[in-house]
Amino acid sequence: MMKRTTKSKIAVLDCFKKSNYGLKPEDIFNELTQYDKVTIYRILQSFLDDGIIHKVISDDGTSYYFKCKSCEEVHFHNHYHFKCTVCHKVECINEEIEVKIPKDYILQNINFWISGICKICNAKSITAPNL
Ligand SMILES: [Zn+2]
Ligand SMILES: [Zn+2]
Ligand SMILES: [Zn+2]
Repeated sequence: MMKRTTKSKIAVLDCFKKSNYGLKPEDIFNELTQYDKVTIYRILQSFLDDGIIHKVISDDGTSYYFKCKSCEEVHFHNHYHFKCTVCHKVECINEEIEVKIPKDYILQNINFWISGICKICNAKSITAPNL
């Protein structure tokens, strides 16, 4: 039983290692059809708790999971999440955001979504302007 859990965790982790983009739960279900959704959700939750991944809800209400770069005990992310309007991929933009909040408030979470054209789609549009 324990062994199976570990194997499924490694499989989910591999999905994140393979992709530089945010993953929707459906992306992981489609990739790992041998595991049921409950198992995958449980693994995602444990990765969230462990600071391995972070979850961001996009402007259309979809949940995306992203690899964490330097979270261990505390999840803190002051970066944008970029959604490409052409390929619909989402990614972490690792530029720090400076957020100013009133004195005596404590900042815990930032959920910034920006959209536009990613560098890959932008490069394609330059080489093929008629597409
Ligand atoms: Zn994190
Ligand atoms: Zn794109
Ligand atoms: Zn992120």
